Amino acid sequence: MQIRMENNSKQNDLAKMRKEFSANVSHELKTPLTSISGYAEIIMNGIARPEDIPIFAERIFKESKRLIALIDDIIRLSHLDEGNIESVKESLNLNELCLEVIGRLSPQAEKKNIKATLEGEPVNYLGIRHLIDEMIYNLCDNAIKYNHEDGEVKVWVGKSEEGILLSITDTGIGISSNHYERIFERFYRIDKSHSKETGGTGLGLSIVKHICALHNGKIQVESQVGEGTRIKVWL
Ligand code: ADP
Repeated sequence: MQIRMENNSKQNDLAKMRKEFSANVSHELKTPLTSISGYAEIIMNGIARPEDIPIFAERIFKESKRLIALIDDIIRLSHLDEGNIESVKESLNLNELCLEVIGRLSPQAEKKNIKATLEGEPVNYLGIRHLIDEMIYNLCDNAIKYNHEDGEVKVWVGKSEEGILLSITDTGIGISSNHYERIFERFYRIDKSHSKETGGTGLGLSIVKHICALHNGKIQVESQVGEGTRIKVWL
């Protein structure tokens, strides 16, 4: 009887979470679409001044890109939720993987003149390549997005007493400790407008947390507001 009650309450929690998620998704999708349709309508009705049309077109383009990023993240999350993923584990050279990710993010880093470096020691890890890649990418992407001009991002990978450690340190805006837990929630952003400006979806860290759990890993945030953030992942 007790077991059944526990199962029921777990199912209720899950149902509640799904409901909340659907409501959030609808809201998050509707905002950019409303803006796209608004600008398109002004152009269509011939109300827009010719000199404003390129500006409106740019806004439509940016909002569409945001929608695509959002839908991509939602699809990734639902694959993870359903356990519907390519789950072949292979030996990964984490140092090479980190370097690859840093390379892919170099256009974003260069735009803000941010120096991204890799240190540590060579380690191999048995994991699901595309997921570990995505986890490192999301963490480094945030370390650049929430950094200042001329800042630094230091990635460290190596062995520790508690297993393989991957740490990403930035010199950015920082996170106050009351947000440490919440930033891993779906659609939670400390500063909504800053996240949106930089193309954030609010789903990156929830994807990271999911991937980390799938690999039986552990994640920790250390940060000082105005000084920077270090995110550690033990695998
Ligand atoms: P987003 O798409 O908004 O970046 P994430 O799930 O990746 O979503 O992160 C959630 C929130 O956590 C961000 O909106 C931001 O407020 C905060 N955050 C994440 N990483 C960092 C960081 N390195 N420095 C400061 N704030 C961060």
